[in-house]
Amino acid sequence: MADLRITFLGTGTSQGVPMIGCDCAVCQSSDPRDQRTRSSLLVTSPEYNFVIDTGPDFRAQCLREKVRALDAVVYTHSHTDHIMGFDDLRPFCHGGRSIPIYGSRATLADLERVFDFAFNGENRFPGYVLPESQVIDGPFLLGKTELTPLPVFHGRAEVNGYLLSRKGAPLLAYLSDCNIVPEATLARIAEVNTLVIDALRRRPHPTHLSVDEALAISRTVRPDKTWFTHICHELSHAEMETDLPDGVAMAYDGLHLEV
Ligand SMILES: [Zn+2]
Ligand SMILES: [Zn+2]
Ligand SMILES: [Zn+2]
Repeated sequence: MADLRITFLGTGTSQGVPMIGCDCAVCQSSDPRDQRTRSSLLVTSPEYNFVIDTGPDFRAQCLREKVRALDAVVYTHSHTDHIMGFDDLRPFCHGGRSIPIYGSRATLADLERVFDFAFNGENRFPGYVLPESQVIDGPFLLGKTELTPLPVFHGRAEVNGYLLSRKGAPLLAYLSDCNIVPEATLARIAEVNTLVIDALRRRPHPTHLSVDEALAISRTVRPDKTWFTHICHELSHAEMETDLPDGVAMAYDGLHLEV
């Protein structure tokens, strides 16, 4: 069995799929793979468990996947679809345990402002989230997994994707929110085993990759397998499955991979 197991807690864009009040075919689809909660990834290994992002669906995702222990949280950026489940980190701080919160300086500054009541050290009632800010300024270890921040552009913002490696082997690159992947990041993830990448919809978008743009990046990186995530209601899982080239597939909520 592989040492690193990942679970897609969510694969949807910021509004989720189905969207409130939408009658389109995907929002009305009975295919469970067309139900996409906000994007988040659970990473487990024999020695350490962490999530990348805690969006508004974080509680339901943890219940669905029976997440019982988390050693840390890593954030890609501070948009609400990635942070609003923060309050539901309480079960992972039982017994006065703190939880390390990793992010760029800018992301942590936003988290500390939005969730000031948790970070300011004054609100220490038992069982509340006890965050421990960890500014990312280079590769870092979570258990035996090395995370390398991968700067990408997400509209005007520069946000982080992450490369996960073990024993020096690059296993997975996670780029959930981006419209431009800079050359330096492409070089760093060349021929990674598994690429997880933003593919919002077919039409171009100012802050996310389209399907064609994501496919072009996949051809450049040449991973063994590419999975699309952060998907909106314009893409039907079943239709995309027949369209995508070999080695590229749509991720879906609850998908487990051993990488
Ligand atoms: Zn997002
Ligand atoms: Zn819809
Ligand atoms: Zn975003």
